[in-house]
Amino acid sequence: MDLAELAATANECHACPLWEGRTNVVFGDGSPTARVMIVGEAPGKNEDLQGCPFVGAAGKNLDALLGLAGLRREDVYIANVLKCRPPGNRDPQVEEIQACAHFLHDQAKLVDPEVIVTLGNFATRHIIKTDQGITRLHGKVHQVGKFKVLPVYHPAAALYDRSKQEALEADFRTLTQLLS
Ligand code: SF4
Repeated sequence: MDLAELAATANECHACPLWEGRTNVVFGDGSPTARVMIVGEAPGKNEDLQGCPFVGAAGKNLDALLGLAGLRREDVYIANVLKCRPPGNRDPQVEEIQACAHFLHDQAKLVDPEVIVTLGNFATRHIIKTDQGITRLHGKVHQVGKFKVLPVYHPAAALYDRSKQEALEADFRTLTQLLS
């Protein structure tokens, strides 16, 4: 199965109750052969409406951060742990993750990146399997199976927090070193 076939499967997915509230499945976007995969938590309101991950202010911040690492959005592959929007942007629930995580797993297998950048607490804990928070984990590279995993603050959380933004910018410069 390739990414397009996997996306078609997700578009028909009713495996957890989130399908009822979605406008669009937000499967993922970007280069199918990217060296870097970016993983967020779940679609928000704008992503649900447009069917694309990281649109709006957080997406613009992500684009600028990628630029610091010498990357454009089309150079990377972006996906969320959950493909459908939780109501009111609440935290994903365990059953939803259990139902949905196989899509992300298969995306990582198909794209086969060198580095996975996890955005914020939720995606980081899901990928690294840890209880530690992003404040302690960000900027430190973890090996998960064959992948280097770089946790960073969520670009939305940094929009109004200068110290988080500075940490994010430093961590994306670390990404440059990982790719050199
Ligand atoms: S969130 Fe995932 S598991 Fe739930 S309906 Fe959407 S695609 Fe299916």
